[in-house]
Amino acid sequence: MKKAILVCTCSFACPSMKDLNFAELAERVRLELPHDYMLLHPRLCEANGEAMMEDLLKKDGVVYITAACKPEKQAKLLRDGFQKAGVPMDNLRFKPVSIQFKNTEQAFEEIKKALEELGR
Ligand code: SF4
Repeated sequence: MKKAILVCTCSFACPSMKDLNFAELAERVRLELPHDYMLLHPRLCEANGEAMMEDLLKKDGVVYITAACKPEKQAKLLRDGFQKAGVPMDNLRFKPVSIQFKNTEQAFEEIKKALEELGR
């Protein structure tokens, strides 16, 4: 299984992510954490994000670590995007990570932990 990280930046304007420097986070993840590739999008839960997911998410062979709002919120908000892509939101393919109310270091650690938990 490849490991892909989808970072949702919530339009770079969500007050709950005000302590996050997305540019720094992305570069640290790229350089320091073992994964296959990463994608940042400003709003995965809206039509443009869903269209991107439909086109780019792979039906097989990839587990998606989604760094965004709370996991339970992601389960609802990202459902249509995953559905359109034909990717089941089960624990083999979908690993949500909350980066809300985190600073850059804390968000980095959450993504690192998710990758370690996948351990494959
Ligand atoms: S999925 Fe969550 S983090 Fe992303 S834009 Fe929607 S509400 Fe914001």
